Amino acid sequence: GCYKEQGKQEGYLPSKATSKTIEAKEETKKLKIGFSMDTLKEDRWQRDRDLFKEAVEELGAEVESVAANGDDALQILQAETLISKGVDLLVVVPHNAEAMATIVNKAHSSGIKVLSYDRLIKNAEVDLYISFDNEMVGTLQAEAITKLVPKGKYVYIGGADTDNNAHLIKRGVFQVLQPFIDRGDITVVYDQWSKNWNPEYAYSNMEEALKANDNKIDAVIAANDATAGSAIKALKKYGLEGKIPVAGQDGDLPAAQRIIQGTQTMTVYKPIKALAEEVAQIAVRMANGEMIPVENKVNNGKIEVPTILLSPVAVTKENMEETIIKDDFHSKEEVYNK
Ligand code: BGC
Repeated sequence: GCYKEQGKQEGYLPSKATSKTIEAKEETKKLKIGFSMDTLKEDRWQRDRDLFKEAVEELGAEVESVAANGDDALQILQAETLISKGVDLLVVVPHNAEAMATIVNKAHSSGIKVLSYDRLIKNAEVDLYISFDNEMVGTLQAEAITKLVPKGKYVYIGGADTDNNAHLIKRGVFQVLQPFIDRGDITVVYDQWSKNWNPEYAYSNMEEALKANDNKIDAVIAANDATAGSAIKALKKYGLEGKIPVAGQDGDLPAAQRIIQGTQTMTVYKPIKALAEEVAQIAVRMANGEMIPVENKVNNGKIEVPTILLSPVAVTKENMEETIIKDDFHSKEEVYNK
């Protein structure tokens, strides 16, 4: 009954989860949100964790967060533990888009809704997905680099193929590259994923690309700043650092510094605070049993998942001040290494 009635309201979240409103409304009991994260390795994830916690607490609820260090079995176990502790909502950053589907089913059988954070869980009845527009991340990267290098040999260093974002970013990149490729102006001479977003794989990918092409490469697009950093390290080994445009994403501090120093061309900045606050707002309302109207939908292989996408921003030397520094994502002193 519940699912069908709610599903009929166009633009509203469908859910099989039973409402926890009665429990939640007891004045004495704070709503609790479980936050299951893949990793804290890249800088951004610590920010996500801290800002999300802060924002949820400001709304009078609390967060229990766990991180699985890239281990699927551990992430599933940790999420199961949160479910059995009776959290009112589960927010998940999946390490593996497919593997975490089982958790969505388990949460739903306990009447708990699941919100996919930053990365989409595939092939499951995810209640809501909130992220940045990852395809646009790739588009911004490729637009910036093709402007500088409209003809030549390109290297693509991808992210983890277990992460849906890595696929979306790549799609965005190749949408921009395709007309150049069709005209014969650009050739992609190397294109590989970097397992688990691991910078060491990105390094060997870049080295392989250089060796296979006699060091004759004209541009590099890397899926994030950690992998871009590795690509630049490999370029340095062959005396090519700063000579070839490199794109990354995340606005990591080392990347922002490299942009100022001229060894990285651009990054794609995603204001994490906006994401964490958006998710916090909605998560607390959902945990309270509220229906959230969402127009946009994304297919995850099983359903059309109600989706909210925030906009990423291309950052070069030119707009570093009015983006990353203005937002105090990093201070001017840090970025300029003073
Ligand atoms: C995130 C990136 C991050 C990468 C590695 C992606 O899903 O969107 O911001 O750099 O994972 O953790």
